[in-house]
Formats: sequence, structure tokens, C-alpha cells
Amino acid sequence: MTNDWTPSDYALMENFDVPVEAIRRLHLGRPTRGIVSIVDRIPQCDFCEDQGKVDFKTLHGPWAHGCNTHWRKHRMYDSLGTGKAQVWVVIHAG
Ligand SMILES: [Zn+2]
Repeated sequence: MTNDWTPSDYALMENFDVPVEAIRRLHLGRPTRGIVSIVDRIPQCDFCEDQGKVDFKTLHGPWAHGCNTHWRKHRMYDSLGTGKAQVWVVIHAG
């Protein structure tokens, strides 16, 4: 097993619209350690009022919670993975 993600997987992460089925598939189909973590509540972005759905290493060194906009703006790496960034998700019914 590898952490290879397909373009559609990345599209999901970029949109932060992660259906339950996708999470189920990701967790069963491949390791997601360091990429996707399930939490009870999405923290607030460290830079604005939006949800900080990405836990990421910033250009300045420290890690931060960021919304899509601020992740793109402040991220050190443009991909997800251990030491780079992971996405917080909450699983909701439906
Ligand atoms: Zn933000």
C-alpha cells in the first residue's frame, strides 16, 4: 500500500467537500496517516474567521490551522502528507 492519491482525491481535498463515502474509501483503501484526520470539530483558521480545515506547516516554520485561502497563501508545501499538511474532517450523517 502506498499513499498515492489520484487527482480526484486531491480535488476533494482542495474543495474540502468530503463525502462520507470518500472518507470510508480512503481509510479502507490506503493509509491516511498524516493526510486525513477525523476530528469532532474543525478548528478556526488562524488567519481569519473561516474554518481551518488544513493543519499545515507554514513558510515561517510553525504549524497553523488554515482555511483553503490561507493554506494556499502561507503553506510551505503544496501537497498533503507527513511533515507537510493534513486535512481535518468531521464525519456527518448523510
Ligand atoms: Zn483563513
